[in-house]
Amino acid sequence: MSVRLQRLKEKVYLIVHPTRYSSNTYLVEGNEKEILIVDPGLPDIFPDILSFLSGYKVYVIHTHFHYDHIAATPVFKNTLEKVKILHHVKGVEALKNADAELTLSTLFGDIIQPIKVDLPVDEGVLELESLKLDILHTPGHTEDSICIVFEDVVFTGDLIFSDGNIGRTDLPTGSDYALYLSLDKISNLGKRIIAPGHGRPGFFDFKRVKELIML
Ligand SMILES: [Zn+2]
Ligand SMILES: [Zn+2]
Repeated sequence: MSVRLQRLKEKVYLIVHPTRYSSNTYLVEGNEKEILIVDPGLPDIFPDILSFLSGYKVYVIHTHFHYDHIAATPVFKNTLEKVKILHHVKGVEALKNADAELTLSTLFGDIIQPIKVDLPVDEGVLELESLKLDILHTPGHTEDSICIVFEDVVFTGDLIFSDGNIGRTDLPTGSDYALYLSLDKISNLGKRIIAPGHGRPGFFDFKRVKELIML
C-alpha cells in the first residue's frame, strides 16, 4: 500500500489516512529540502510515508495535543534522523509527561510515549529554512490550540472545519469564551484555503466566522 496524497496547491498536500478517526495530516514542502508535517495523526501511514521524507529535514508541528493528531510523532522521532518537533508552549508539559487526560490517549485506548518538544512556539512569525509561517494562538478547543498560516493556506486544527462547524469545548482545557475570542481573531484572514484537522480542505471566506460567532 502506498500513501495517498491530495494536492491542495503547489507544495502543500493532504495525506489521506486509512484510519477514519485519525486527524488529517498535511505536508508542506520548502525550497531547501525541508518538509513541514502538520499533525502526524495516527501511525497508520508508516512505513509508506518514509520514502517521501528521505533526504529531507523534517519539522513536525501539532495544532494541539490531542491523541488523534500526535500519535505518530514518537514514530517520526524514532525513525527519522533529522526531525524537529514543534508545539505551542502551553502544551509542552502535557507532551513531556505523556498526560493521558489532556492528550485523550486513554479515551482512544492507547498509551502515548512522552514527546520532547524541540522548539516551543508561540504567537508570531516562524521561519523554518525557506518556510515562513504565521502562528496564531487560538485556544478554545484546547488551551494549546494554534492555527498555522502558510501563504494562503490556514491549518485550523480542531478550531473550525470547512463546513463552518466549530470545535468542541467540553474536553479538558476547553473553553467557550476562549473559542469565541479565537474565532474573532481568525475572522480577518479573508479568503483562504482552509486545511482543517478533520474533514475536507477547501476554499473558505474567514469573514463568515463573524456571522457564526454572532449567533
Ligand atoms: Zn481532532
Ligand atoms: Zn482535538
